[in-house]
Amino acid sequence: MQLYNLKDHDQKVSFVEAVKTGLGRNQGVFFPQNLAPLKDVDALLDLDFVTRSAKVLRHLLGDELSDETIAHMVEGAFTFPAPLVKVADNLHCLELFHGPTLAFKDFGGRFMAQCLAQFSQGEKVTILTATSGDTGAAVAHAFYSKENIDVVILYPEGKISQAQQKLFTTLGGNVHCYSVKGSFDDCQAMVKDAFLDEELKSRLGLNSANSINISRLLAQVCYYFEAVAQLPKAQRAQAHISVPSGNFGNVCAAMIAAVIGLPVAKLSATTNQNDTVPRYLESKQWQPNDTLESLSNAMDVSRPNNWPRVQTMLDNGDFSYDDFYSHGIDEATTAAAMKELQAMGYVAEPHTAIAYEGLKADLASGNQGIFLATAHPAKFKDSVDGILNLDIPMPKALADALAKPCLAEPMSADYQQLREAMLAKLD
Ligand SMILES: *Cc1c(COP(=O)(O)O)cnc(C)c1O
Repeated sequence: MQLYNLKDHDQKVSFVEAVKTGLGRNQGVFFPQNLAPLKDVDALLDLDFVTRSAKVLRHLLGDELSDETIAHMVEGAFTFPAPLVKVADNLHCLELFHGPTLAFKDFGGRFMAQCLAQFSQGEKVTILTATSGDTGAAVAHAFYSKENIDVVILYPEGKISQAQQKLFTTLGGNVHCYSVKGSFDDCQAMVKDAFLDEELKSRLGLNSANSINISRLLAQVCYYFEAVAQLPKAQRAQAHISVPSGNFGNVCAAMIAAVIGLPVAKLSATTNQNDTVPRYLESKQWQPNDTLESLSNAMDVSRPNNWPRVQTMLDNGDFSYDDFYSHGIDEATTAAAMKELQAMGYVAEPHTAIAYEGLKADLASGNQGIFLATAHPAKFKDSVDGILNLDIPMPKALADALAKPCLAEPMSADYQQLREAMLAKLD
């Protein structure tokens, strides 16, 4: 698989190089040079999740890895299902929260860990990542106790839920956490600075496990096939998929799935009040505002770093602007959408409710609506219980993590401080 840097088209890398370097020159993200269509999509849809996912990834990666290697990596990563749950007529929810940290990021995080274990045998690797909530836990669990790998996680202090935080700050061992006095965008900026720091990069073998890492995106492509595969055969051409979007990695994966031949009639990328993309599509002006805090905190992102990839596919005509929708949903509407789903018998947390709300706005009568449940409702117990007047039970993984002490150290939103801390601890 050949990829090129969207900010410097002369920089071309293989998949292995893209996974190991994360970001390209000038902080550009890598994108596949060529997204060829799959041959027999109908036959693929009849396979089981793991077998089909290995074939989809083999198609994307080309000859770079053997069939056996890819199958082994997929088996190690995708150890839990992605069920499509019927909520009402023509309305389905793709539940992506059945992994160890109860959010969809387990799929990408675990596949990336498999990739790095394959690609960097023996070399020292430091995973540096900023989390707006769920990446931290997924990455920490995926890499926890892996030899030669250290994990450094930055998160905005007080801006993610206790459950989200405790799932990674309580691990210890090779997982080092810093609570940053600032926003998620500040954390993301510190990570970007670290990747511009050639000395730090080579001394620590830096790697970002953020959704800019192409391995995470390609892993996510697989569950869109699993979603459509669970629709009755006669309805498979009618899927309208709505993705709750923050950094726009997940919806980018959906679009890649469509470009290589998955039948996706329409795609919605729904944001919370951090609505840089919906406003951009209206006005063609890229005007990020300050990041606002919301109920759907994993989407509190005003500078989505996967947008250039999505825009590339739209601008190239690989996916039509006419079939792409994006709305920003405010807080009151999010809460109302949670109640509406509850009345239909489905308990959803805020991110999931936003996907539902965005879908509802544009779902045509002939289409099958699929909204993504990106996190388990218990991960957002405070807002779910409060808004829906419930006391939802805690899954065991969460209850165990909540009972342990937080091991994170405080830090200001200052790159120099991060640099010194990392060199002191890891060099
Ligand atoms: C990360 C996250 C999102 C946003 O996904 P992106 O790929 O960043 O757009 C949505 N919901 C939940 C629960 C998340 O953790």
